[in-house]
Amino acid sequence: MAKKIVVLGAAESGVGAAILAQKQGFDVFVSDFSRIKDFYKEELEKRNILWEECNHNEDIILSADEVIKSPGIPNDAPIILKVKEKNIPVISEIEFAGRYTNAKMICITGSNGKTTTTSLIYHIFKMAGMNVGLAGNIGSSLAWQVAEKDFDYYVIELSSFQLDNMYEFKADIAVLMNITPDHLDRYDHCMQNYVDAKMRVVQNQTADDAFVFWNDDPIIQAELKKYGLKATLYPFAEDKAAELAAYTEEGTLYFDRPYAFNMEQESLALTGKHNLYNSMAAGISANIAGIKNETIREALQTFKGVEHRLERVARVNGVDYINDSKATNVNSCWYALQSMPVKTILILGGKDKGNDYTEIADLVREKCSGLVYLGLHNEKLHGFFDCFGLPVADVQSMHDAVQAAYKMAKPGEIVLLSPCCASFDLFNSYEDRGDQFKKCVRAL
Ligand code: ADP
Repeated sequence: MAKKIVVLGAAESGVGAAILAQKQGFDVFVSDFSRIKDFYKEELEKRNILWEECNHNEDIILSADEVIKSPGIPNDAPIILKVKEKNIPVISEIEFAGRYTNAKMICITGSNGKTTTTSLIYHIFKMAGMNVGLAGNIGSSLAWQVAEKDFDYYVIELSSFQLDNMYEFKADIAVLMNITPDHLDRYDHCMQNYVDAKMRVVQNQTADDAFVFWNDDPIIQAELKKYGLKATLYPFAEDKAAELAAYTEEGTLYFDRPYAFNMEQESLALTGKHNLYNSMAAGISANIAGIKNETIREALQTFKGVEHRLERVARVNGVDYINDSKATNVNSCWYALQSMPVKTILILGGKDKGNDYTEIADLVREKCSGLVYLGLHNEKLHGFFDCFGLPVADVQSMHDAVQAAYKMAKPGEIVLLSPCCASFDLFNSYEDRGDQFKKCVRAL
C-alpha cells in the first residue's frame, strides 16, 4: 500500500508539496482549516488530489505516515499537537522537496535581508546563464518546481518557520544575514528558540559545503562557538579583517575567496550599509558557484531592487518619497534610517510585535525632522518619541499619513515609510500598505 501523506495548509507550499507527493506515488490528502483560494483548489482538482477546507478531518489526518506542515501553521496548533501525540513525523515542504532533487541548494535566512539577498543571488545566476529556480518565501514553492521543473540550482529564501521542520535537508551554500529579535510570539518568547531555528540552515553541512555569514553579528559569533561546523566558512564584514571572504577598504569592495576580485563600492546598484552586506553575501555565493567575476560585478551593478524595500517612489516639490513598507521590525528601520542622506520624515507604526524602540532612538534624533504615527493604537509611539521634541502627527489611514508627511517635509528632505511594525491593524499585508503609500504619493 502506498504511504499516506497529509498536507496541512493549502497555499503555495502545501499545494506544491501535494503535487510532488502525488508524483512520487504517495496517497495524498490536503487539509486546510481556512478557505482555500480558488486557484489552488483548481490545481488540486486538476490532478484529482483529495482536499478539504474549513475543517481538519482527524480520522484521515491522524492515519498519515507523515505530515507536511505549511510554515504558517504554528507548532502548537491543536491539530499539530494531536499529530505529534501519535508520533507522526511533521516535516516542512522544503524538507520533503529536498528528498527528490539532486540540484544544488543555496539557502538564505536571517532576520532581515532575506528577500533582497535571495533575489540578488538569483539575478546573478540568471545573468550567468545558469539553470536556476527561485523558491521558498518568494516565487513558486520548491516542491512544485521539483515536481515539474528540472533545475541545476535552487536559490531558496527560508524563514525560521520553514527551518523549524527541517531535519535531513542540507544546503550546499547556506547564507545567514543576521539574527535579531523577531517572531518571538511563535517561539515561546524565548530568543534562543528563534536563534536555534535560524542556525538549522547549517545542519548536515559537510566540508564540501559553504557557510556565508555576517561576521560582525554577535549572536552568530556566539553560536559558531557552540557548533563544530564542518562547512567552509565565508564570513563577510564592512571593515577589513583576517579570514574575511568580502570586505571594504577605502571605497572598494573586495571579494577574497574562492576567487579574488574587487569593484567600486559606489557602483553597487543597492545603497545603504545593509545592502552592502546583502551584495557581499550574494557576491560570495556566486563566487563559490564559480560564476565569473565580470558577471558578478555587472549583476551587482544592474540589480533593480525589490518592491517595498527602500523603493524610491517619486519626488514631489523637491521631497523624495521612499517606500520601505517591508520594514516590519525595528532593526530593518534602523538600517533604512541609517542610509538616509538628508533629514527625514519617518512614517512608522502598525501592529507592534513587542518592539523596543531604543535601537532607533539615536538615529531618530539625528536624522528625523518629523514623525507620523500610522496605526490604530499609537500610544506606545507617543510614549517613546513625543519627548524628542519633533513635530508629530497621529493618523489612522495612509491617505492621512502621506498628507501629514507632505505638510511637514521641506524641499530637499525625504519622506520614508519604514514602519517597524506589521501591517495587519490597518492593511491586508505589507504589500497593501506599500501599494497604498505609492498611490497616495502619486496622487499628491
Ligand atoms: P526579509 O526578507 O528578511 O524580511 P528584505 O530583503 O525583504 O528582508 O528586507 C526587509 C527590510 O529589512 C528592508 O526594507 C530593509 O529596510 C531591511 N534590510 C534589508 N537587508 C538588511 C540587512 N542585511 N540587515 C538589516 N536590515 C536589512
